[in-house]
Amino acid sequence: PSSLNPLKTINEDIFSFAELKQKEIDELKKIEAFRREFIADVSHELKTPIFAAQGFVHTLLDGAVNDKTVRTKFLKKAAKSLDGLDVLVQDLLTLSHIETGQIKMHFESIDMYKLTEEVFEQFEEKGEKRSIRLRLEGAENKAIVYADWQRISQVMTNLISNAIKHSHDDSDVVVSFDVSKKNVVTHVRDFGEGIPTEHQTRIFERFYRVDKSRSREKGGTGLGLAIVKHILDGHNTRAEVVSVPAKGSTFSFKLPRIKPEPADSGDKNDHH
Ligand code: ADP
Repeated sequence: PSSLNPLKTINEDIFSFAELKQKEIDELKKIEAFRREFIADVSHELKTPIFAAQGFVHTLLDGAVNDKTVRTKFLKKAAKSLDGLDVLVQDLLTLSHIETGQIKMHFESIDMYKLTEEVFEQFEEKGEKRSIRLRLEGAENKAIVYADWQRISQVMTNLISNAIKHSHDDSDVVVSFDVSKKNVVTHVRDFGEGIPTEHQTRIFERFYRVDKSRSREKGGTGLGLAIVKHILDGHNTRAEVVSVPAKGSTFSFKLPRIKPEPADSGDKNDHH
């Protein structure tokens, strides 16, 4: 047996050490490539609104400022681009805070029904729901989960905002819950444009949009679902999407009803 041959075990040790080092190097290379790609993506995304605002301001300076209607129109357009830039930077900061673990999750028992009511109110107050009817199915005190209220509010805000954005006028956005013994599955459903199958696996990637120019037009940053993914990762769960083009989409995610036992984390769907 090899253990009787000291030279052989040393050789094997050196070999496995080298193998380990190579794995570390590969991992670092991957992180570095990811970082580069991220910076390239971010720069590109920042350039779009800056370039637009710059164009309007320079045109104004070149003389358009003297025409009152053109002036107002261009200033409004420049303001819209700068507002978009502001949202983008906010989303980037949120994403980076979650990724670097600067946001500590604060787990407690939370009522998904109450949380959703609060999120709905925010959309109503800001007048952001167009002619969409926001509907909540279920009752208070039924869908209680163990999660971070603030972060899950962000998840619901992003999912509902998307549902509204991609709905047709005068249609419903429905939030409902499936309560089982151990878990609560929350569904956010719309009856809008849907997502073609080939895009469904990619929409959680940062800056991925089915239609880039339309997403920007609607004030999207392409980061909403990346933020959702990261927050749900922090809850050891993830969002699933079922969507049929021209019929609508349902985004769902599962959360535990009680604090999960560390030893009870053997569920194959959980990724720790
Ligand atoms: P965005 O800021 O563009 O909304 P997201 O990360 O929130 O970025 O979403 C990524 C893309 O996924 C969107 O650009 C859109 O194409 C698609 N998408 C997300 N939610 C829906 C939905 N409810 N209906 C149709 N398409 C959606």
